[in-house]
Amino acid sequence: MKNIKIALIGNPNCGKSSLFNALTGLRQKVGNFAGITVDKKTGYLQLSRELNAHVIDLPGTYSLYPRRIDEFITFDVLLNPDNPSHPDVVVIVADASNLKRNLLFCSQIIDLKIPSIIALNMVDVARKNGLAIDTLQLAVDLGVKVIHINAREGKGIHDLKRAIQTAIPVPERYFVEVKPLCPEVINGIKDITGVKSDYTAFQIACHYINIFCFNVEQKGKIKQLLERHQFPMAKLQGEEILKRYEKINPILERCTSQDQSKQQALDTTAKIDRILLHPVYGYLIFLLIFYLVFQAIFSWAAYPMDAIGAGFSWMQEALNKNLPQNLVTNLLVEGVLAGIGGIIVFIPQIMLLFGFISILEDTGYMTRVSFLMDRLMRKVGMSGKSTLPLVSGLACAVPAIMSTRGIENWKDRIITIMVTPLMSCSARLPVYALLISFIVPDERLFGIMNLKGLVMLGLYLLGWAMSLLVALVMKWIIKAKEKSYYLMELPIYRRPRWGNVGITMVEKAKVFVMDAGKVIITISIILWFLASFGPGTAFTDIERKYADLQPAGHATKTETEDIIKSEKLGASFAGRIGHFIEPAIRPLGFDWKIGIALITSFAAREVFVGTMSTIYSVGSTADSDFEAIRDRMRKEIDPITKKPVYSAATSFSLMIFFAFAMQCMSTVSVVRRETKSWKWPLIQMAYMTGLAYAASLLVYQLFK
Ligand code: GDP
Ligand code: MG
Repeated sequence: MKNIKIALIGNPNCGKSSLFNALTGLRQKVGNFAGITVDKKTGYLQLSRELNAHVIDLPGTYSLYPRRIDEFITFDVLLNPDNPSHPDVVVIVADASNLKRNLLFCSQIIDLKIPSIIALNMVDVARKNGLAIDTLQLAVDLGVKVIHINAREGKGIHDLKRAIQTAIPVPERYFVEVKPLCPEVINGIKDITGVKSDYTAFQIACHYINIFCFNVEQKGKIKQLLERHQFPMAKLQGEEILKRYEKINPILERCTSQDQSKQQALDTTAKIDRILLHPVYGYLIFLLIFYLVFQAIFSWAAYPMDAIGAGFSWMQEALNKNLPQNLVTNLLVEGVLAGIGGIIVFIPQIMLLFGFISILEDTGYMTRVSFLMDRLMRKVGMSGKSTLPLVSGLACAVPAIMSTRGIENWKDRIITIMVTPLMSCSARLPVYALLISFIVPDERLFGIMNLKGLVMLGLYLLGWAMSLLVALVMKWIIKAKEKSYYLMELPIYRRPRWGNVGITMVEKAKVFVMDAGKVIITISIILWFLASFGPGTAFTDIERKYADLQPAGHATKTETEDIIKSEKLGASFAGRIGHFIEPAIRPLGFDWKIGIALITSFAAREVFVGTMSTIYSVGSTADSDFEAIRDRMRKEIDPITKKPVYSAATSFSLMIFFAFAMQCMSTVSVVRRETKSWKWPLIQMAYMTGLAYAASLLVYQLFK
C-alpha cells in the first residue's frame, strides 16, 4: 500500500473546494496549520487497491507572490520540501471561463517543477459564454496533462483520478526561463539550499524571510548573496510576470476560439446585477434577505433548540432518578451532561446560518453584499463581509463568529470577532425581560408605544452602537500585518449545489462540537464544581440543620428543599467568591447574591435567571415565569443600608452590565478556536468586562 499527498491549488472561486468535496466526500478533516489562523482541510481518497491519497485543499491564491497570510501557507507548502503537507502531486484547478488569469498562476506552479496536472474546471461556463478550448493543444503548450472536469456536477472526476494513478512526471521544460534575469543569484541559492528548479530559487530569493524551512545560517547566506548582487526584486518580479503574459497570449489565441454571439451567462449576470446592485432596490433586497437569515437563526432555530433543551432536562431527570445519589452521578448529570447539552444546543443555529451562508456564497450573492456594504463598513474598520456576522450576532455570537471565516483580511476579521458579542444576542433576552419587568411600569407612551418594548429596543441599539464605536477604536489600535488590498470580482450567478450546502452544514457543526466543545465542557465542570461544593463542612452543616427541622416544620417538603438549595449555593465556593467580590461590585449597586449570579452566568447569560431563582429559593420554576422571582427580589432588603436591594438604579446597572460583559463561555471558546490562540479571547473578555464595569458604575452612581 502506497500513500501519496495531493495538493489542490488554484485561484479563489475556481472550484477547488467543490473538487475537494467531489474527491473526498465526507472523509475530510479540518485541522490547522501550526500556529496560524488558517484552516487546513485534508481528506482521504482511495485511488486503487495499492494507492491511497491524502488530499489537501490549499487556500485560494491569485499568484505565487503571497500577500495574505493564507497565501503564505500555500507558498510554504509548495516551496518547502520539509513542510509536512508538501505534495507529491499538485492538482492545479483552473477556471476555464477566466483562462488568462488562471494560466498565469498555472505557469508559475509548473515552473516549480513539482509533478503537476491541470484540472480544467468550469468548462460548461466557458462553453455557455461561447468559448471553446482545445485542451490537447493546451497540454502541449504547457507541458503538463490537462483534464476536463466539472467539479460542481462531479464530471470528469474519474478521469482525473485515473490520471493521478499513473505516475505524473515533473514538468519537463520551464514555461518561462527566469535564469537569464539573475543567473548568479539563482545559482547561488541553488547551492545554498539544494533546490533544483530555477524558478523555485527565484521565489526563494524573493521570499526567503517568510519560508520556514531554512535555518539561520542559510538565511544569512542568502541575505549576503542578495546584497552582493543587489537583487532588484520588484523589477525582476515585474519582468517575470510580463514574460509570462507574453507567452500566455499566443497560447490563448492558439487554444481558444470565442463565439461573440454567445455571452449568455455574462449577460444574465449583468441583468440580475442591475437589480441586485441597484442603489435603492439593491439595498432593499439585501435587507430582506438578511432579515430572513436573522429570522431563521432567531426564531426557526428556537424549535429544535427547545427540543434539545427539553431532551437534556429529561435525560438529567431520568438519570437523577435512576442512579444512586452520589458525587459521580452529580458530576455526570449537573456537570458533564449539562455541559454537553450546552454544546449541542448551538447546533441548530450553526447549521441554519451556514446553510444560508453557503447558499449565498454559492449563488454569488455574498460578493454582492460585500460590494454593497464595503464602503460603509470600511469607515468603522470592518469590511462588507462583516455585515453577516454582525447581523447574526443579534441572534447568537457563536455561529456569527464562526462565520467571520469569509473575511479575507486579518484585521477586518479580528475586529469583527471582537465586537460581535456586543450585539444583543437572544441569551440576553430573558435577563433583560426579568429586569425590565421589575422596573419598567406596564405603560404606554403617547398611548401607542409600549414602554417596556422601548427600553428593550434601547438596549438593542446600545449594543449595536457600542459595537461600532469599539470597532472604530480598534481600527486605530490594531496594527495590520498585511495590506488591506485585494481584488473584488463579481462572479456570475449560479444555482446553489445542495450537496455542498449539506456538507458545509455538517462540517461546521462538527468543527464546533469537536473544537469549541472541549473548552465548554471544561468550563462547565469548573462552574459546576464551584456551585456544588463548599469549603469545610459548610454543606453538611446546612443539611443537618434542616434534617432536624423537617418533621416539625410547616413548610412543605419542596419548599424546604428550595431553601436548602439556596443556602448551599450561598455557602458554596461560588458563594464565597460572591462575598469576596462584593466590595468590588458594590459601587455598581450589586450585592454578593448578584455576584454569585454573575459568576454562574458566565456559562451563559440566561443562567442568571435560574441562579436568581435558586438564590431566592423560589424553586425550579420555568425560566419564563418571572413573577415569583420578581416578587422575591422586590422584598430583598440590604442588611447595611436597610433599603431595597433592587432599586431602579441597581436594575439598570445590571442591564447595562449584561449588555456589555462577555458572559458566555461558548463565545470565549469559539473565539479561541477561530483565532487559534488564547490571546484574543482574553483581550476580548478583559475589554468587555472593563467596559461593562465602567458603564454600570456610571449608571448606578448617576441614578442611585
Ligand atoms: P473555491 O473558492 O475554489 O473553493 O471554489 P468553490 O468550490 O467554492 O466553487 C465556487 C463556485 O463555483 C461554486 O458556486 C460552485 O458551485 C461553482 N463551480 C465549481 N465548479 C464548477 C463547474 O465546473 N461548473 C460550474 N458551472 N460551476 C462550478
Ligand atoms: Mg474554497
